[in-house]
Amino acid sequence: MNRTSLPELACVLRTLGTYGHRLDPATATPEQLAIITRAVNEARHLVAAAQGPAPLTGCGEHPAGPVDPTDGRCLLCRPRRHRSQAAAAAPTTDVQVEDIVQAVAELGEQEAVRRYGGRAVTRATAAAGRGTHRYPPNERPTRRNHEESTA
Ligand SMILES: [Zn+2]
Repeated sequence: MNRTSLPELACVLRTLGTYGHRLDPATATPEQLAIITRAVNEARHLVAAAQGPAPLTGCGEHPAGPVDPTDGRCLLCRPRRHRSQAAAAAPTTDVQVEDIVQAVAELGEQEAVRRYGGRAVTRATAAAGRGTHRYPPNERPTRRNHEESTA
């Protein structure tokens, strides 16, 4: 049995249940029947999926996806897991913005990123009013520049 499709199946069945109350023989429309047909077909498909073998990965998104040999979990979701672990393990930024900006100016952006992390450097340079090579500063013409150019 594959339980990963059961939440979606329950949702489809609840939708179908609402039509049990709304469907009136005197006022039923072809659109209502089309919706019911789609929901019944989807429910059949989901029941068949639920009767299938248990997922190898334990992943709701990729139940039959490849297995990560390192931990036996979903290989396709591995980058997402690693990103969330890295974000949780990232040091809290008690470092002052000025220190990071100074490090960028003195040591270069790569070294600053190595020391403080990319997120902290991006925040610090943005807070200091500078852009990074990836996110240049916003240089829209100000109202004064606009007035000068039209005058
Ligand atoms: Zn997955």
